[in-house]
Amino acid sequence: MSTKSIRNLIILLWMMHSVNLFAQSTGVTAIKAGKLLDPETGTLSSNQIILIEKEKFTAIGPNVSIPKGARVIDLSGMTVMPGLVDAHNHLALTYKIDPERNLYYFTYITESTALRAIQAASNGMQMLASGFTIVRDMGNNGNYADVALRQAIEQGWIPGPMIINSGIIIGGMGGQFWPTPEMGEKNMVYPEYLDADTPDEIVKAIHQNMLYGARVIKICVDCKPWGYSVDDIKLVIAESAKAGFRVEGHCQTVDGARRAIEAGIWSIAHDSGMTDELHKEMARKGIWRAGTETPITLPEHTTPERYAQTVTMLKNAYDNKVPLTFSTDADYYVPGKTRGEVAIEFIETWKAAKVPNVDIIRAMTINGYKCSETEKTRGPIKVGLAADLIAVKGNPVEQIDVLRNVDFVMKDGEVFKQNGVMTPEKFLHGGPVKGVRLKGN
Ligand SMILES: [Zn+2]
Repeated sequence: MSTKSIRNLIILLWMMHSVNLFAQSTGVTAIKAGKLLDPETGTLSSNQIILIEKEKFTAIGPNVSIPKGARVIDLSGMTVMPGLVDAHNHLALTYKIDPERNLYYFTYITESTALRAIQAASNGMQMLASGFTIVRDMGNNGNYADVALRQAIEQGWIPGPMIINSGIIIGGMGGQFWPTPEMGEKNMVYPEYLDADTPDEIVKAIHQNMLYGARVIKICVDCKPWGYSVDDIKLVIAESAKAGFRVEGHCQTVDGARRAIEAGIWSIAHDSGMTDELHKEMARKGIWRAGTETPITLPEHTTPERYAQTVTMLKNAYDNKVPLTFSTDADYYVPGKTRGEVAIEFIETWKAAKVPNVDIIRAMTINGYKCSETEKTRGPIKVGLAADLIAVKGNPVEQIDVLRNVDFVMKDGEVFKQNGVMTPEKFLHGGPVKGVRLKGN
């Protein structure tokens, strides 16, 4: 290299360094979006500029001028869109073939809450890397590992999706387990489930979850034949509303789903209790369906018969205009896949149900924000909202599978993934950089 070349290189490096200093001083980020997808309208706009300042979107449009010194992120070859939502996941639970043969009864015995909380941190990053910026975490998290995860993300220790967590699942005696009398006497289903059979116990269980940091209440409506009555569910809804919380019901039978719908529950998890008649009632009442539609491409977790029923009922729900969320119930390890890759695999079921791509995208975005009640603060790419977005190569409205390869992820205005590579350093802090709330943490 000649002396002149070396001098030019030094000048270039100095200029790059200067630009970087400017970028830090203005605090403005500008994204050049080749295409910008609005899931509500299903339309793509070309050549949009998105400005971000202090973790929020500040300007969006084709003629927005980029302030001098702004950090510029060039996504002009990509489709930019809002982040994805999984409306039913369990980040602090990962059962496996080896050693527990996919029975989480054993996972809960062999893995401590502390270990599961660390795993939840990892699963949260894996979800974020696949473009999921919001996750509703619906229980089975040991002794409030879900709360620890949410707090760690909110305080700025680790990257992760926004977590809307349920705390411990509230159910009639035994929850989803069938303990032996010896285990039952010692209340061994706790902390995986909170036993609550009487109105007093139900109220107390809700208060416990509120106190320890839940953001939504989850109940087992019909995990046991005695289950919850319509009046019980109405009590849960009324008590949860005191803290502004919504209620999700795990429903596995037609009778259970019917009781939950009659009581006016917010969302129903799982599809095994769904019928055409109940779908019509859900649509009429605006009850969210978190159907957790396991794809046949994850064969350990469904059967051909079960899958056929799942596809039929998802199509029926779509045809009946039931409010649909994208939900996975992912709580297991699939060798070779991250938790995010397991979650995105669920688009296979939606494709099989012939749901149009634009409506799959709506279920994964705008419906997810509404079910999570974040649509006015986080989710849509709108001025004033939290600066979360993702980018993919290609057009997901034409080919939904491009969502399998999320190339770029931004959360709260910081880049978490770029050019397909995770870059989490901006999210890792030694202390609570985003503050701690002593009350209502
Ligand atoms: Zn679940």
